[in-house]
Amino acid sequence: MSNVHETDETEEIMLIAIEKWLDQKVRPVAMELEHGDVYPDDLVEDMKELGLFGALIDPEYGGLGLSATTYAKIVTKISEEWMSLTGIFNSHLMMAQIVQRFGTEKQKQHWLPKFATGEIRGGLALTEPNAGTDLQAITTKATLEGDVYVVEGAKTWISNAIQGHCVALLVKTDPSAEPRYKGMSILITQTKDPATGESLPGVRNGNKLEKLGYKGIDSGELIYDRYECDAELSLIGGAEGKGFFMATGGLEIGRINIAARSVGIARRALSESVAYAQTRKTMGKPICEHQAIQLKLGHMASRTRAAELLVEDAARAYDTGQRIDMEAGMAKYYASETAVEVATEAMRIHGGYGYSKEYPIERLYRDAPLMCIGEGTNEMQRIIIAKQLVKRNPV
Ligand SMILES: Cc1cc2nc3c(=O)[nH]c(=O)nc-3n(C[C@H](O)[C@H](O)[C@H](O)COP(=O)(O)OP(=O)(O)OC[C@H]3O[C@@H](n4cnc5c(N)ncnc54)[C@H](O)[C@@H]3O)c2cc1C
Repeated sequence: MSNVHETDETEEIMLIAIEKWLDQKVRPVAMELEHGDVYPDDLVEDMKELGLFGALIDPEYGGLGLSATTYAKIVTKISEEWMSLTGIFNSHLMMAQIVQRFGTEKQKQHWLPKFATGEIRGGLALTEPNAGTDLQAITTKATLEGDVYVVEGAKTWISNAIQGHCVALLVKTDPSAEPRYKGMSILITQTKDPATGESLPGVRNGNKLEKLGYKGIDSGELIYDRYECDAELSLIGGAEGKGFFMATGGLEIGRINIAARSVGIARRALSESVAYAQTRKTMGKPICEHQAIQLKLGHMASRTRAAELLVEDAARAYDTGQRIDMEAGMAKYYASETAVEVATEAMRIHGGYGYSKEYPIERLYRDAPLMCIGEGTNEMQRIIIAKQLVKRNPV
């Protein structure tokens, strides 16, 4: 079994603490920070105190060791308020999970305690300008010179690339390997000094990328130019050629997270709509009494609940420690499409006010489509599900 240390009581205490924080600290500032695309420094400090950067890290390395089931509930709750916040600790935890699942004992002891407190924060750097879905096409290269790896290449669209200090970096250690995945490895590369925020020698940020939504969190480029890192501490698992498997394994929790975020977006869009439909009147009655609106609400509520159940199912399966590509893929695919549909319907229910920056609907509408792209596009999720169906049901 993987991270299952908490009891129902611990889960409840954690969820109550999160709710209180959302109420008192996040709700008053979320709208302003989002519209200004401002990194939420104070909220990140709170998230450190709440233990969110160590949520999935084992207690022996200083984390909370929460199950994926509890983690998904936390992510949904926070996303109901402001989805961007969950990206700050989820990308970080994907990096941490790779160390925890595949790292050597020395690597775990070196990295995980600093990840758990949030002293060193970061993310997962897979995507390159010419390689997103086709990860095996990456060209970032790491060459062993003595006892250090020398890295050259560029990554893009990396969450926490600017405000974070470290990434789990997918590289080619053997660019000529066939099949291509056999030449891929993951290195933990520290990119910044956490005390000063200064870039370390050999690595720098390119542009901060401007986006439709998912504001507040930084999405950026990382450029490696003869960057050096200690091989023993950096090469995850201590053996080359296993990076593709580790990256796709790390994406499982990422997909559960995206699915949980999607449920948060859908839930908020639904609850705003249910409330608005009771107060907004047309033709002498609240719009919730018009059948056209009732049909929308009924559809939105059913899809949202179905998405919740798929997320619970995937998180429970993850907690068994098995590979769960199919369950995570189904949850991610269904919940993200639900978020897009429910946010769009919420905008229609709100009429012109749905388009106004005074209401959260336009933000949900802008945030939802990313859920269909991140951690593997929904086109790829359906292909993964189909492949698993055939694999699990041979004739
Ligand atoms: C806000 C944001 C944050 C991100 N954060 C990170 C991060 O932290 N780390 C990171 O590594 N990446 C990150 N990404 C990158 C993201 O993972 C990629 O954008 C995503 O994997 C898709 O890759 P791509 O954009 O290159 O699209 P492409 O791979 O070029 O795909 C284009 C289209 O073709 C389809 N397609 C591609 N191949 C196939 C196929 N074989 N069969 C069927 N359809 C196919 C895709 O589904 C898509 O519709 C982020 C992206 C965004 C927008």
